[in-house]
Amino acid sequence: MKGALILCFSLLSVITVYGNGRQERVKWGAVSSAKAAAAARREAREAAELQASAAAAAANAVEVAAADAADAADTDVEILAPPAAPPQRIPAGETRAVLMREELKPGDPLTLGLILDGGSHADGARPRAVLLNARDERLGAAVFFRLEPENPEAPLLWAAVMAIPSLAGPGSARIKVERGTELLAEIPFTIGGRDFVAEEIALNAGNTALRTEPDPQKTAESEQLWAILNRTGTIVYGGSAFAPPVSITRRTSFFGDRRVYRYSNGKSDTAVHAGIDFGAPRGTPVTACAGGKVALARFRIVTGNSVILEHLPGLYSLYYHLDTIHVAEGDLVDTGALLGESGDTGLATGPHLHWEIRAAGENADPDAFMAAPILDKEAIVRKLLYR
Ligand SMILES: [Zn+2]
Repeated sequence: MKGALILCFSLLSVITVYGNGRQERVKWGAVSSAKAAAAARREAREAAELQASAAAAAANAVEVAAADAADAADTDVEILAPPAAPPQRIPAGETRAVLMREELKPGDPLTLGLILDGGSHADGARPRAVLLNARDERLGAAVFFRLEPENPEAPLLWAAVMAIPSLAGPGSARIKVERGTELLAEIPFTIGGRDFVAEEIALNAGNTALRTEPDPQKTAESEQLWAILNRTGTIVYGGSAFAPPVSITRRTSFFGDRRVYRYSNGKSDTAVHAGIDFGAPRGTPVTACAGGKVALARFRIVTGNSVILEHLPGLYSLYYHLDTIHVAEGDLVDTGALLGESGDTGLATGPHLHWEIRAAGENADPDAFMAAPILDKEAIVRKLLYR
């Protein structure tokens, strides 16, 4: 078990702990055992003491030099200190699952971390998370992926990303972590309340037909989209905080808007807006919100020229109604890469960018992805080990 714990530590090349009442950067990568860590701490303490006495000598000599030395001591000394709370050992055979943020409301993404001890990871079945409300109704499910797929030495760490549906009611909820028929863990939490905007949109005859007339091509495109969004890959392309996809900040529709479509034939229908609409004039550059792989780049009947990026297993960003497309399916892109230019292709009442995020198939609020990284490996490992 000690081996696994050290293995987890090796993921944390640099972690932040509190020492001497202030935050210090602590290097853990070189520490290979508790004994070595203690020796390194002793050495560092001695080195710090030496530096401190040098600074004191300088203070006696020249006042200005003392200030410089104090600055240097503040920023240059590497203090090797133990974490504020010593890490708990994970007893052999124990499985741990954590929810990275417990305060969640409709539309919020949620990230789960999982340590599976016991070495049974090799049996091929990936763990999955199932989201249930207080009435035990299933609100969603996601398949876990390896947190460090490139590191075969770290088979214990898993993560999953999913979202609270925008239609979920407030109240108690829980996440069941299971593998096959085995229940690995259960995490209770609460879904908060949230208000959404109500809007009415009048559609002309052309847009009414786009939404209402049955079309085998539309059905095929919809099936193709679902096949992509429900794909559970293994590659982590980008988990950092998302950047806005256009420089335009004006929004013409919001995430989760409760819409009523007024059709040209007098009938109407309701829908929930799955993303954010930016009021971008035709030709505005549309860029990748994070690193990813182009999963789709083509014309679709309803969404027009469309680009879909895969960022994490099960996590996608979607860009609709583009005038032009500048990437091809299979391309790898970095944050800020040009995907195309905004327009009004497909079902649109004017030029705009519809930007949407899907997590395990569910619409997620794009603003939540811009506020914080969706996959913070250090934070996940820290919470798994030190909770
Ligand atoms: Zn939209």
